[in-house]
Amino acid sequence: MKKSHSLLFLILAFIFAQIAWMGLLGLWIYWYVSNYIIFEQVGDKLSPQIALDSPNVFVFVGGIVLIVLIAVAMFFIFRNLTVHIKLTKLYDNFIANITHELKSPLSSIQLYLETLNVKEVPLEKRNDFLRLMMKDANRLNKLINSILEISRLEQKRIAHDYHVYDTDEIVLQLVRNSAEQFKLPKNALNINGSASCKCVLDKDAMQIVFDNLTDNAIKYSKQPVEISVKLARNPKKFMIEFSDKGIGISQKYHNKIFQKFNRIDNKDIPNVKGTGLGLYWVKEIIKLHGGKITAYSEGKEKGTNFIIELPIYMTSKKFYINSLLRRTAKKEKIMVETDGE
Ligand code: ADP
Repeated sequence: MKKSHSLLFLILAFIFAQIAWMGLLGLWIYWYVSNYIIFEQVGDKLSPQIALDSPNVFVFVGGIVLIVLIAVAMFFIFRNLTVHIKLTKLYDNFIANITHELKSPLSSIQLYLETLNVKEVPLEKRNDFLRLMMKDANRLNKLINSILEISRLEQKRIAHDYHVYDTDEIVLQLVRNSAEQFKLPKNALNINGSASCKCVLDKDAMQIVFDNLTDNAIKYSKQPVEISVKLARNPKKFMIEFSDKGIGISQKYHNKIFQKFNRIDNKDIPNVKGTGLGLYWVKEIIKLHGGKITAYSEGKEKGTNFIIELPIYMTSKKFYINSLLRRTAKKEKIMVETDGE
């Protein structure tokens, strides 16, 4: 309700602004034309021998250009305002989500501790409590780390350890690490295809990408997760297709899911919690590697495919990729020097 009100307000304000500047344009033309006529009449009376060839086109065009510039500026101001309002709303959602995500494991740890403190708990139950507390503490740790990493990413302090890797080997390694971390059963992961080329990656940053994609594939699958990773290439790019057979994403959200704090209200899986930062983060990391990521799904319950495209080493985006390698070499040199001191 609130959302539709602010949208209506924006639309009305935009229409009003457009009418205002069109009115201004009309007034300007009216002012110019009437002044020109008065000047011509006064001029004719004062010195009829001087013939005025043509109206001053420069003043006329100048005025119109100015008014059009004001309109363009207004358009950008409105666009920024809309983006700002949207971000504020998403940020509010994020705060609500994150507060819940932080509070619920903390309250459960508190409850177990209080119980252990006031009651004599049998050993078996005590061990159960400890195991559950560890699980909640891990959840908290993961969440806090993800918030910290996001802020590092915002300041571009992440992804500064670039090296050249063999594409097939490194992707296999990263995907298997994620599968291990999320304890995927062996038959849940299927890797095929080959790109057989070289690429430049920051291994830790790319691990975050695959961890997020794997985590999402698990979260957004109702049945036991099934992930397939396909490698391919074209003359310039190396491609990784990461697919799951989960709940899918309707087409209108294919781009939105990469925006900061954006979450789709999944009524099918209402209990899945998240911050709406994972895919934003994934997209930013891929961008820092000179690549891009897109999502594609044939619709609800039809699974989701993420396609990552990265430049092939020495073939595409040479200048940018070499600058990443140079930056890493410089950082490593500084580290060796400070270690030696
Ligand atoms: P979070 O998972 O914390 O909500 P993300 O940025 O990782 O945030 O994802 C944004 C949204 O994209 C999710 O809320 C979810 O609705 C949708 N989404 C992401 N990955 C998948 C997937 N594999 N299948 C279906 N929906 C997905």
